[in-house]
Amino acid sequence: PGRLVCVGLGMMLGAHIGPRARSHIEQSDVVFVAVSDPVVELWLQQMHPDVRSLQPHYAEGKLRHQTYRGMVNDMLAEVRAGKTVCGAFYGHPGVFAKAPHDAIAQARREGFDAHMEPGVSAEDCLYADLGIDPGRVGCAHYEASQFMFYRRRLDPSAYLVLWQVGIAGDRTYRRFATGREYRQLLVDRLREDYPLDHPVTVYEAATLPITQPRMETVPLHALPDTPLHMHSTLVVPPCMPLQRDDAMLARIEAVERAEA
Ligand code: SAM
Repeated sequence: PGRLVCVGLGMMLGAHIGPRARSHIEQSDVVFVAVSDPVVELWLQQMHPDVRSLQPHYAEGKLRHQTYRGMVNDMLAEVRAGKTVCGAFYGHPGVFAKAPHDAIAQARREGFDAHMEPGVSAEDCLYADLGIDPGRVGCAHYEASQFMFYRRRLDPSAYLVLWQVGIAGDRTYRRFATGREYRQLLVDRLREDYPLDHPVTVYEAATLPITQPRMETVPLHALPDTPLHMHSTLVVPPCMPLQRDDAMLARIEAVERAEA
């Protein structure tokens, strides 16, 4: 019977792939691949004779939802034909990625075995390169456009990470970049919670062993004029110390006293 597994390749070519992901790639009947770099596709082709690119589904002007649906349909067609199918995605297949989640859910609805193998995401590289422990003061992650379209309650005593900041504010769901006017609106939203000279870091993990990550820190007000790409992530460090909750601490103390 057909079966689907979506695996993560990690961010850096050849460096982050786990043994389980590798064995699924090698042992499935068909491998579909969605990665931003053609070099990564070539690398996968050395692991399996039938590697099919999902990249042609991306096209400027095409709705992103259609792109994802096309990817899901390609993978599901082979599962329905009785094949064991592997979807290989860069990073973690379940982190800010719609097609792998949708494909697994659809395969299960149709009665097929389907599961996900985690991978090293941009988030994991960010913690390593920038020396951030998300557990120290907490860390919130949002998709940049969603963060602009909806009111969120920000905690400026924690880290804030904004994904897809290069297309922040895009409501067409078709573009590969938005301009400085959109980024200015993002700055306008952030200045409600952070000072305008607060340092923010544009982060781009290295994807080849020979390249270095981009870690460019600029004041918040300079963000509209800072080059951003599809693969940029914005990191906003806290601008205030943790605020003690004296009322809760008093209640805990009361419980402690009752225990003693
Ligand atoms: N599944 C991917 C992962 O595990 O990292 C994320 C895919 S999401 C559709 C694309 C977003 O991931 C980008 O807009 C950016 O925020 C982040 N991203 C992708 N490549 C990156 C890189 N090399 N460095 C930093 N962030 C990256």
